[in-house]
Amino acid sequence: MDLGIRGKRALVCASSKGLGRGCAEALAAAGVDLVLNARGAEALAETAAAIRATHGVTVMEVAADITSESGRAEVLAAADGVDILVTNAGGPPPGLWSDWDREDFIRALDANMLTPIALMKAILPGMIGRGWGRVVNITSQSVKAPIAQLGLSNAARTGLTGYVAGTARQVAPHGVTINNLLPGIHATDRADALDGGLAKSQGITIDEARANRAATIPARRYGTAEEFGAMCAFLCSQHAGFIVGQNILLDGGAINTTF
Ligand code: NAP
Repeated sequence: MDLGIRGKRALVCASSKGLGRGCAEALAAAGVDLVLNARGAEALAETAAAIRATHGVTVMEVAADITSESGRAEVLAAADGVDILVTNAGGPPPGLWSDWDREDFIRALDANMLTPIALMKAILPGMIGRGWGRVVNITSQSVKAPIAQLGLSNAARTGLTGYVAGTARQVAPHGVTINNLLPGIHATDRADALDGGLAKSQGITIDEARANRAATIPARRYGTAEEFGAMCAFLCSQHAGFIVGQNILLDGGAINTTF
């Protein structure tokens, strides 16, 4: 399917690896030029080079912490005038409800709620002015069904979801859509880290922890960054202009709900 976005420009945050990279690859395959971001310059340069070589699109790299004000300023300077924004950042650490104090919540809110909001606030006016734009926020299945050990994620991402629900309806008249993608378990470094933590706490191997989690998913496997990226690219396509303010769950059926 031709996504109709060849020649557009996208900022994909936190995209040297994992789900962000999956989104970047799928947009590049549709002919979109990219601004990529991550903190580690080496992995970012490798990803950017691989995408240029495979897809022949222009790729700029900004090695910066997207959750810091100075990092965001660097990224936004490089991404001036983008048509597509994919927000993403690392997820908060796991723990128990009783572990976290105010500072832990402030860090999680900064990374997973206030950072995407700041990026939208900076980039939406240009999209509105040009009469076209696509925003996809990578959130989590935890906004639909809380994950016990990820209370910081449950809280911060639900706040972002409420903001998007209201804002998406205000920018839609200008040809700009905002939607959220809710990943269930995907095979990335983040999933490895969570499996490693589970293995340690339960006294099992990481392979056993992975198999146990895969068994809870009706699809009986983890999702892939490629599948995730394909949905992101579709939401950024010309075909998705009537999809506004939605939360799209990619979880292999893990959350057992009718809607
Ligand atoms: P990942 O494989 O660990 O990749 C994270 C990417 O983000 C890397 O490129 C990393 O590069 C970059 N990054 C992290 N923090 C950053 C920051 N502060 N500034 C700029 N770049 C940053 O993680 P993932 O699995 O793709 O997860 C992406 C998001 O989806 C996370 O918020 C995660 O919590 C959420 N999620 C993932 C799953 C899953 O199963 N994978 C499920 C639900 C939700 P550097 O480290 O070099 O910065």
